[in-house]
Amino acid sequence: MHEMSLAEGILQVVESTARRERARRVTRVILEIGALASVEIEALRFCFDAVTRASLAERAALEIITLPGRGWCMPCGQEVTLAALADACPHCGSFQVQPVVGMEMRVKEIEIE
Ligand SMILES: [Zn+2]
Repeated sequence: MHEMSLAEGILQVVESTARRERARRVTRVILEIGALASVEIEALRFCFDAVTRASLAERAALEIITLPGRGWCMPCGQEVTLAALADACPHCGSFQVQPVVGMEMRVKEIEIE
Protein backbone atom coordinates (compact mmCIF):
# COMPACT_ATOMS: atom_id res chain seq x y z
CA MET A 1 0.00 0.00 0.00
CA HIS A 2 1.30 3.42 -1.04
CA GLU A 3 0.10 5.01 2.23
CA MET A 4 2.15 2.54 4.28
CA SER A 5 5.44 3.72 2.77
CA LEU A 6 4.32 7.33 3.20
CA ALA A 7 3.59 6.66 6.88
CA GLU A 8 7.02 5.07 7.30
CA GLY A 9 8.64 8.11 5.72
CA ILE A 10 6.74 10.41 8.06
CA LEU A 11 7.81 8.36 11.07
CA GLN A 12 11.46 8.62 10.01
CA VAL A 13 11.26 12.40 9.84
CA VAL A 14 9.39 12.59 13.13
CA GLU A 15 11.75 10.25 14.97
CA SER A 16 14.94 11.91 13.81
CA THR A 17 13.56 15.32 14.84
CA ALA A 18 12.40 13.94 18.19
CA ARG A 19 15.83 12.39 18.87
CA ARG A 20 17.63 15.59 17.97
CA GLU A 21 15.40 17.45 20.48
CA ARG A 22 15.89 14.68 23.09
CA ALA A 23 12.12 14.20 23.33
CA ARG A 24 10.62 11.53 25.54
CA ARG A 25 7.65 11.25 23.28
CA VAL A 26 5.88 12.89 20.38
CA THR A 27 2.39 14.18 21.19
CA ARG A 28 1.31 15.68 17.89
CA VAL A 29 2.31 15.52 14.26
CA ILE A 30 1.04 18.13 11.81
CA LEU A 31 1.17 17.17 8.15
CA GLU A 32 0.54 19.23 5.06
CA ILE A 33 -0.81 17.31 2.10
CA GLY A 34 -1.54 18.81 -1.29
CA ALA A 35 -4.99 18.11 -2.73
CA LEU A 36 -3.32 16.57 -5.80
CA ALA A 37 -0.99 14.25 -3.86
CA SER A 38 -3.29 11.23 -4.35
CA VAL A 39 -3.14 10.32 -0.68
CA GLU A 40 -6.03 8.50 0.97
CA ILE A 41 -6.25 10.38 4.25
CA GLU A 42 -8.12 7.64 6.11
CA ALA A 43 -5.68 4.99 4.90
CA LEU A 44 -2.77 7.21 5.88
CA ARG A 45 -4.18 7.66 9.40
CA PHE A 46 -4.57 3.90 9.75
CA CYS A 47 -1.00 3.28 8.55
CA PHE A 48 0.39 6.03 10.78
CA ASP A 49 -1.19 4.37 13.83
CA ALA A 50 0.30 1.05 12.77
CA VAL A 51 3.87 2.22 12.10
CA THR A 52 4.10 4.44 15.19
CA ARG A 53 3.24 1.59 17.58
CA ALA A 54 6.14 1.09 20.02
CA SER A 55 7.89 4.21 18.69
CA LEU A 56 8.41 7.66 20.20
CA ALA A 57 5.31 8.75 18.31
CA GLU A 58 2.99 6.10 19.69
CA ARG A 59 -0.50 7.60 20.21
CA ALA A 60 0.60 10.96 18.82
CA ALA A 61 -2.30 12.97 17.41
CA LEU A 62 -2.11 13.24 13.64
CA GLU A 63 -3.33 16.55 12.28
CA ILE A 64 -3.68 16.89 8.53
CA ILE A 65 -3.85 20.17 6.67
CA THR A 66 -4.96 19.88 3.06
CA LEU A 67 -3.44 22.43 0.71
CA PRO A 68 -5.43 23.39 -2.40
CA GLY A 69 -4.10 22.25 -5.73
CA ARG A 70 -3.34 24.54 -8.64
CA GLY A 71 -2.68 23.80 -12.26
CA TRP A 72 -1.78 25.59 -15.47
CA CYS A 73 -4.58 25.42 -18.06
CA MET A 74 -3.10 25.53 -21.56
CA PRO A 75 -6.22 26.68 -23.48
CA CYS A 76 -6.89 29.44 -20.91
CA GLY A 77 -3.23 30.33 -20.51
CA GLN A 78 -3.64 30.84 -16.77
CA GLU A 79 -3.40 29.13 -13.42
CA VAL A 80 -6.60 27.55 -12.11
CA THR A 81 -7.68 25.86 -8.87
CA LEU A 82 -7.88 22.08 -8.97
CA ALA A 83 -9.68 19.95 -6.38
CA ALA A 84 -8.26 16.66 -7.68
CA LEU A 85 -5.56 15.51 -10.04
CA ALA A 86 -7.81 14.51 -12.96
CA ASP A 87 -10.12 17.54 -12.71
CA ALA A 88 -10.98 19.68 -15.69
CA CYS A 89 -10.31 23.42 -15.84
CA PRO A 90 -13.15 25.21 -13.98
CA HIS A 91 -13.23 27.92 -16.67
CA CYS A 92 -13.12 26.11 -20.01
CA GLY A 93 -13.62 22.44 -19.06
CA SER A 94 -10.38 21.38 -20.71
CA PHE A 95 -8.37 18.47 -19.33
CA GLN A 96 -5.13 19.98 -20.63
CA VAL A 97 -4.23 21.17 -17.18
CA GLN A 98 -0.72 20.68 -15.84
CA PRO A 99 -0.58 20.39 -12.06
CA VAL A 100 1.67 23.11 -10.59
CA VAL A 101 1.09 23.06 -6.84
CA GLY A 102 -0.53 20.50 -4.57
CA MET A 103 1.36 17.26 -5.17
CA GLU A 104 3.59 17.60 -2.12
CA MET A 105 3.38 16.18 1.36
CA ARG A 106 5.50 17.28 4.29
CA VAL A 107 5.74 17.20 8.05
CA LYS A 108 4.99 20.78 9.00
CA GLU A 109 5.44 20.58 12.74
CA ILE A 110 5.74 18.13 15.60
CA GLU A 111 5.00 18.60 19.27
CA ILE A 112 7.11 16.77 21.80
CA GLU A 113 7.52 16.44 25.52
ZN1 LIG B 1 -9.12 26.45 -18.98
